[in-house]
Formats: sequence, C-alpha cells, structure tokens
Amino acid sequence: METHDSLLARIAPAPGQCSRTILDPATGTPVGEAPVHTVEDLEAAVAAAAAAQPAWAALGHDARSAALLKAADAVERSAEELARLLSREQGKPLNGPNARFEVGACAAWLRATATTPLDPETVVDDGETRAELHYRPIGVVGAIGPWNWPMMITTWQIAPALRMGNTVVVKPSEYTPLSVLALTAVINEELPEGLLTVISGGPDVGEALASHPAIGKVMFTGSTATGKAIIRSSADTVKRLTLELGGNDAGIVLPDADPKAIAQDLFWGAFINTGQTCAALKRLYVHDSLYDAVCEELAAVAAAMPMGNGLDENNVLGPLQNQQQYDILARLVDAARDAGARILLGGNPDPGQPGNFYPTTLVADIDNNNPLVTEEQFGPALPIIRYTTIDQAIAMANALDVGLGASVWSPDVSAAREVAARLQAGTVWINKHGAVDPRIPFGGAKQSGYGLEFGTEGLKALGQPQIINGWTATQTRATPN
Ligand code: NAD
Repeated sequence: METHDSLLARIAPAPGQCSRTILDPATGTPVGEAPVHTVEDLEAAVAAAAAAQPAWAALGHDARSAALLKAADAVERSAEELARLLSREQGKPLNGPNARFEVGACAAWLRATATTPLDPETVVDDGETRAELHYRPIGVVGAIGPWNWPMMITTWQIAPALRMGNTVVVKPSEYTPLSVLALTAVINEELPEGLLTVISGGPDVGEALASHPAIGKVMFTGSTATGKAIIRSSADTVKRLTLELGGNDAGIVLPDADPKAIAQDLFWGAFINTGQTCAALKRLYVHDSLYDAVCEELAAVAAAMPMGNGLDENNVLGPLQNQQQYDILARLVDAARDAGARILLGGNPDPGQPGNFYPTTLVADIDNNNPLVTEEQFGPALPIIRYTTIDQAIAMANALDVGLGASVWSPDVSAAREVAARLQAGTVWINKHGAVDPRIPFGGAKQSGYGLEFGTEGLKALGQPQIINGWTATQTRATPN
C-alpha cells in the first residue's frame, strides 16, 4: 500500500528549524511536522524568486508549457501518496469528490493551463494605426491560500503564474501546510530551482507578502475579511490582486423540478468536501409546491452518505478540518434550532467521538434572516427555505453582500436561464452547483472578490497588459496637413 511517509521525509523541517505538529482532524493524532517560516525566510524566498524570474520568462511560452506538462506527469506519479497525505491533513476522504479527485484536478489544471493558447491581439490595424495587446510577465507573484482544497487551489494560483513567465512564492494556510509543501515538492521535480517556493508561516507572513515591494501580484483565496486586509496591505505598492473570497451560494428549485431526479446533485452541490467549499450550495430555496418532496428526497440521499475517517475507502464525507470551523457550524445550527427551525437530519454531534465530526445536517422551515442562512456555514449543514413567488426567491438569493455562485433547478432550461440572468453571482449553474472547469472562467461578484481564474482570462490575469502602438516598416505615418 502507498503511504505518504516518503513525501513527509522530503518536506521535513531542517534540523533546528522551528516547526509545528500537524494533527489529523479525524483522530487528533500527529500527521507530521511542518516548518514554521518567518518573515526573514520570506525575504530570502522573494529575493531568490526575483533572481530566477528573468531566465524563466526568457524561455518563452512553449518551454514553460512543456515544464508544466511534465509537472502534471510528476503529480500523477505521486498521486496516491499525495492523496493520502491530503486526506490525513485536511480530513477529506480518499474517495468521492475528495482527496483522489483533488489530486487528479491538480494534474488536469496543470495540463489545461499549459495548453491554453494566448496570442497577442491586434486591437487596431487600419492602415494608419497598428496597436497590439500583449501580456508580459509581471515578475514575482505571491499566492496565499486556504485550508479547504489546499492542493487544488494552490495549483489554480501557481500554474497560470508560472505559465505567464512569473516566479511564485506560496503562503499556504497554517492549517494545511503539509499538503502544499508536498505538492510543490513534486511539481519542483520538473522545474528549475528558485521558481516556486513555499513559505509556511502564519498571517504575519501573509501580510508581509501582500505588502512586499518586490511582489507584483497577489493571488488570494480565502475569507472576505482577509481579502479586505490584503487590499489594505497591498495598497501602498499598488499590487495587482485576484481575490477569490467567501460565498454563500443560493440555489433556487423552480416549481416544475423533479425532486427525486435532482436530489443527488443537490446533495453534492451542498456537501462536496463536507460543505467546506467556497462555491458550495449554502442556501436552498424551494417552491412551496414541492418543498416537502425535495426535503424528503434530499434527506434520503444525505442519510445514505457515509461519514468517517478519510482513509476508510467507504467514506465520502469527513470531519471539519479544524476546531474553529466546527465551532462556527455548531453555533449556526444551534441558532437555527433555538429559533424554531425543524432539524430534518443531523444536528446532533456525538460529544464522545474523537475528531471534528459534525453529522450531515438538513434544516427546514427556517427563516431567511436566520444566521444559518445569512452567514457562511462552510460545513455539512444546509438550510432549506420555502418560497412562493419567483420574485421573492430571487430577492432572497440576492439579499446578501456576497455573490460567488448560484444555481437554478428546472427541466425548463430557458426558464432557468431567465432566472439566472437576474441573480447576482459570478457563476450561475443550471441543474448543477459548484462544477468548475479549467476552460471556463471563474470569479466572484460583490464581496466574493474580483478577477477571474481559469482559461484564457485566467492567463491574462497573471500577465501585465502591454500595448505596442506603432507602425510596421512598410507603413508610412500619415502627416497632418
Ligand atoms: P482565511 O482568510 O482565514 O485564510 C486564508 C489565508 O490567508 C491563510 O493562508 C492565512 O494564513 C492568510 N492570512 C490570514 N490573515 C492574513 C493577512 N492579514 N494578510 C495576508 N494573509 C493572511 O480563510 P480560510 O479560513 O483559510 O478559508 C475559508 C474561506 O475561504 C471561506 O470564506 C471560503 O469561502 C473562502 N474560499 C474561497 C474560495 C474561492 O474560490 N472564492 C475558495 C476556497 C475558499
């Protein structure tokens, strides 16, 4: 059986280096030791990244893409080891849309990012003026990430940055440094030295990265509160930012939907990664006429999904990654219960169970102003809210100050598209929720952030636009008379 021991040995802190023991959220037992880097370590990493960047940029797109394709092969070679380490550190099961799926997505995103074309655009060519839009490297990019999909989100940040000729300094979440250190160690098997460095420290290191004068752009994925802090700390250097922040995605089930047919997709839309997903379905609005049927079908699907230790091949749901998130979720479910909402399933964690397990929870007949609806729960609890008119559902869906994703559920796709056009969200899915694709741009509306990731738009976001405005040798300048 594959283990993650050799990966842990490769990323072990140097003798005498400050380190921290990372605990398995399913058992509370140690997973491994992570280095605790400092702001001084960050300075050295930024200097090395700045020194390595010109040669990497000079290689050109073809050579950089070839290196990323090789990095994808390296990830696949170590896939099972990476998935096991990810499962132990993050808590997510090996199976289902979880650890093996996440490692597979890293390879897929590296490949897609390597092969997405990006040619200079001719903006004007009218015989008198010729202007072209190019995307040049920015320089050194900082990548700051969260703990929910640590390997995949790191890949989303570093792959386009490298492809565009930048070098990268990564600051992983202090909850999941091992996953990011291991992934980047594997990717670095195929990259020249100094291009991709991980500085595994706390928020102080993140803040130093966001304000560092030698960092040209920060890719940030995390909470809206931290996103605002990064806007502030990056202001003095007018840094470019891509901000993928918190969400509280609404799903609207139209009256003609088939509850049984959509129940499984609704479930995974909400409970992928045990609900710890930025663009998960976090509020479900169901028309009065099929409210009870949707609740019943969803509860049947949810009750059949096994939750437990991620290394057990049977499980598809795991623990909350950390105690802090568990406490947020428990507080919100308690608030719903105290306000008189009906707990359809779950809501009853076992205090004797080790690990951060909170059972799959469905909450019905809940007021739209309840904190379980208005705050991001980021865990396995879904509020289901009744509506009577579509205008009412849209108003409730749009009422919050975040807008990452949303979904509309109906066999009548044109009716669903009409509703979609009225929703304030960066992505609206129809009859699914949360599906991301390396070819399709992804980004938030309102306080869910700004900037796009993935596809051509995602590459452009990691380049400095430059206009070349001039004449070719064969053109003569028109002189005003
Ligand atoms: P977080 O904001 O607490 O932390 C994210 C990262 O920011 C960590 O690496 C942390 O060390 C760092 N950080 C903290 N303070 C900082 C500061 N002042 N300056 C710079 N860096 C700082 O987020 P989290 O709890 O790790 O992740 C959960 C949140 O992330 C949820 O709100 C979720 O919706 C969001 N998220 C969004 C997306 C997306 O694509 N939009 C994806 C995943 C998660």
